Amino acid sequence: MAVTRFAPSPTGYLHIGGARTALFDLLLARKTSGKFILRIEDTDQSRNSPTAAKQVMDDLRWLGIEWDHGPDVGGPGEPYFQSQRLDIYNKYIDQLISDEKAYYCFDTPEELTQMRDKAAAAKKNFLYPRPSQFPTEKQADQARADGRPVAVRFCMTDDDIIVEDSVRGRVKFSGKELSDFIIRKSDGFPTYHLACVVDDELMGVTHIIRGQEHLMNTPGHIALQKALGFKTLVYAHMALTVSEGGGKMSKRDKAKVLKDAIKSANPDKEKIASVGNISIQDFDDFLKGNSTPDNPAIDAMAEFLGIKLPEINIVDFFKSGYIPEALVNFIALLGYSPPTDKEILTLDELIETFDLSRLSKTNSLFDRKKLLAFNMEHMKLLSEEKLLQRYKDFLSGTNSPASADDKLLLRILKACEGARTLAEVEFKSSFLFVDANNIKYDQKSVEKVFLKNSGQGLAMLAELKQQLLDLKEVSEKSIEDMLRNLAERKEVGLGKVAQPLRLAICGTTVSLPIFEAVDMLGIEETVKRIDNAISKFSGKTL
Ligand code: GLU
Repeated sequence: MAVTRFAPSPTGYLHIGGARTALFDLLLARKTSGKFILRIEDTDQSRNSPTAAKQVMDDLRWLGIEWDHGPDVGGPGEPYFQSQRLDIYNKYIDQLISDEKAYYCFDTPEELTQMRDKAAAAKKNFLYPRPSQFPTEKQADQARADGRPVAVRFCMTDDDIIVEDSVRGRVKFSGKELSDFIIRKSDGFPTYHLACVVDDELMGVTHIIRGQEHLMNTPGHIALQKALGFKTLVYAHMALTVSEGGGKMSKRDKAKVLKDAIKSANPDKEKIASVGNISIQDFDDFLKGNSTPDNPAIDAMAEFLGIKLPEINIVDFFKSGYIPEALVNFIALLGYSPPTDKEILTLDELIETFDLSRLSKTNSLFDRKKLLAFNMEHMKLLSEEKLLQRYKDFLSGTNSPASADDKLLLRILKACEGARTLAEVEFKSSFLFVDANNIKYDQKSVEKVFLKNSGQGLAMLAELKQQLLDLKEVSEKSIEDMLRNLAERKEVGLGKVAQPLRLAICGTTVSLPIFEAVDMLGIEETVKRIDNAISKFSGKTL
């Protein structure tokens, strides 16, 4: 029975790496009939954003990653926000101090930088010089009164520390090469290391699955566990997920695309900085590559420029029309191979077959084409009601004008079977929700379909109009018959009839199947759009 926890620091949106960690935590807990805990690690006062914890929780729930204990649902380890557990941490820190396993230190950031620079100049690992005699409580009070920062450091062991890692095997660290590290900062908050070790013990956690960037922290955690008399846990440090351009998937991927777009569009600097709600200084730093603005700023600037950024955060995938079932399946296969020959798996199937020993040591590629294919497959697998719900959720998160009763939305979804994303469904059906006078015609299609061959397409439209008006009974079938007959009579392929009609009613040559599109729109509206197109483009030449 495994007790796992996902412990995000709420500094931004939940990104794909965090979601993967949370998912594996969930899979292991469910597979072993254990418990899955959500713990919010909000002890870094300078980096926390008040809305981020909520966003992370919303994103997890959207993915279907539900926690047994944690914020909102409670549990025996309450509270689950670390910022509300300071008394607990202080008790353990004080115990370490009185056991002489931790000590006060009063260095300013400048002094620490000097020490580090000195070590770097001597090509040595920085090891904090542990005082031979530890400062007393009184000296700590005096330092505070003198305005010095008062922190607490843990006495790192000199022994070797072995991490038995489920992914990497046995990893040995020499305690001698590891520095005494801070467990309480001068602002009175514990560091991540202390809080995480204490909470994992108190919350009964048995397995830690996390990204490989934390492997370096693990010997310190194990040393702390020993010093506090806690048990050691099972660790699994997952390999990286890299983006197609190489390098770790991160918000920098988005930033890079945005930066290139800004450089080529060369927009008004003040305007775009204000759209992103950042200072000109920050904007310049961003263009020079010195810093990366936060996500909302990046997204706002991209939207302003009308460019699409690669999705990184879960909410990005939601906005691009992915469904959670597909994302969960896809991220489960990043660095993990299930013991099945199927690739398309539901959450239940992933749980059923989960095997921690099948996590891979090698980095995995975030293959966006594969994700699109997965999304298409999972959209087909969903029940009608579920797909409708997903589509309505998607529409509510966009500025889409699509608003319709469930019957029409279901009809649209059916007509769009085989679409790769919900955004594609929305795009293909958007003609139903715009006013005839507001259709934006794609220029290239107008030239190709209407104007080429001396306006053959437009001439076809005029004939079509009459045929539509003459239809005795309107149905998909009668529209189809009429279009096919017309094509036959004119001795042209169906496309030569269907494409001008499609362009007239949608403004593009991509839409729902044409017979259905006309039927949904209705004859009156279709004819209106044909009239509009004829009057707008007749007389125009290439
Ligand atoms: N708060 C840490 C993070 O977000 C948790 C790491 C861990 O799982 O121990 O990276």
